[in-house]
Amino acid sequence: MAVAASERQVVEAVPKRLFVAGEWREASGGGEFAVEDPATGEVLCRVADATAEDALAALAAADRAQRGWADTPPNERAELLWRAFEELRRRADELALLMTLEMGKALAESRAEVLYAAEFFRWFSGEALRLDGYVKRSGDGRSRLIVTREPVGPCLLITPWNFPLAMGTRKIGPALAAGCTMVWKPAQLTPLSALALAGVLAECGLPRGVLNVVPASDARAVTEPLLRDPRLRKVSFTGSTAVGRRLMAAAGERVLRVSMELGGNAPFLVFDDADLDAALAGAVTAKMRNVGEACTAANRFLVAEAIADEFARGLAARFSELRIGRGSAEETQVGPLVSAEQRQKVAELVTDAVDRGARVLTGGNAPAGPGYFYEPTVLYPVPDGARLLREEIFGPVAPIRTFTSEEEAVAEANASEYGLVAYVYTRDLDRARRVCERLEFGMVGLNQGIVSNAGAPFGGVKQSGIGREGGNEGIDEYLETKYVALAAG
Ligand code: NAP
Repeated sequence: MAVAASERQVVEAVPKRLFVAGEWREASGGGEFAVEDPATGEVLCRVADATAEDALAALAAADRAQRGWADTPPNERAELLWRAFEELRRRADELALLMTLEMGKALAESRAEVLYAAEFFRWFSGEALRLDGYVKRSGDGRSRLIVTREPVGPCLLITPWNFPLAMGTRKIGPALAAGCTMVWKPAQLTPLSALALAGVLAECGLPRGVLNVVPASDARAVTEPLLRDPRLRKVSFTGSTAVGRRLMAAAGERVLRVSMELGGNAPFLVFDDADLDAALAGAVTAKMRNVGEACTAANRFLVAEAIADEFARGLAARFSELRIGRGSAEETQVGPLVSAEQRQKVAELVTDAVDRGARVLTGGNAPAGPGYFYEPTVLYPVPDGARLLREEIFGPVAPIRTFTSEEEAVAEANASEYGLVAYVYTRDLDRARRVCERLEFGMVGLNQGIVSNAGAPFGGVKQSGIGREGGNEGIDEYLETKYVALAAG
């Protein structure tokens, strides 16, 4: 398929090298890896492939820059973040097209992600000025207790492919505000957005070595030596629970600070008193944002038996109207999945459910032709035991189940090792309060199908992670508390 000139230009404009100590460098081994367009399966470009040696050079640069960045006045850190916020918004169209090309999602969604990503810089620009502490007299009056907050130190950031920019700014924003330096290992499938962001920050005046970016084809080889290195003070990870567990075990060896944003299995509860149209609109958002490739994606629809047939029919009708296509075409609403493997996994989960007796109301197929497309799919009813009720689907598939009581709905929603986000649709205020209190999740969307917001503490409980990104809490992940006992004479 021919690549439009504008598409070639945005890809050509990105440096395809490592960003270390403020310089664009080739990989020490001279290696490169390919970046594909998931809408065609064709190679978009090749990017320098960092080695362990490069990662250690990046950490050395971060370590050298740490003292200077920590000492940089908060006003300067805040102003840099503000400039980067404005620059991301100014370049939203170009960055969105780049993201769509490497990741697949429709342009409107990529634009929304660029703006969402920028919001973390706006939010943490403000937070840079609010790094306060306190002073008090000791109980016996003999000391002054001076409590301050200091940057943790050099951090390793590891991010997934599904939100290539926002998962970066959600970590980089607070790290910059707090005064931490960083080594960032973006996902192998989507290094271009990360490299473009490094370019934006450099243009906005980021001092050398504060942020270093090391795209790599072997994540383990570049991150393990860093986790063993005493210069590293923290690892912040967004990705699967399986990899998160491994990183936590490695971090335990050196008692590193950790932030973990891991997998989800979001239930979407619709009670019989819900506004059905609002619930259907919310369901489309909660399921189809990012083609379902989101940790916050509704993974299980639990609907009151009395309205389940109507809800299922309504959702199938809405899904069947969505326009599938190459993400870079303006009319497209549903782009491809990110890779052949991801599509294969989604197809297997649907086959497993159907083999166990689930009925396909719409979709259920991978369209022929190039690219990793999968049809928006509604399955209703879905029997116990179907794998997609336990596993993250990460695709445009909505399994619907029914419940007959509030207790049953809450019990089924909580029956998961994950606890990231749940969605609840009801017009009964008492029920809303009761259900929100009983749900074992870090976030609840109450009568809305999206929870992401830079000003809110994003994160999960149980095996969905540790720590919060964004909101008042986000900065804490990058700060240590220090206390000085001052003799009061
Ligand atoms: P993943 O396989 O865990 O990969 C995430 C990142 O970790 C990538 O950069 C990956 O590099 C790297 N990685 C893989 N194995 C590693 C290892 N042994 N050591 C160090 N780094 C390693 O996850 P994914 O498939 O990219 O992303 C999807 C997952 O992310 C889903 O489970 C989703 O729920 C979760 N997620 C969570 C949140 C949240 O906020 N809770 C947000 C978005 C996504 P490569 O690219 O080279 O594999």
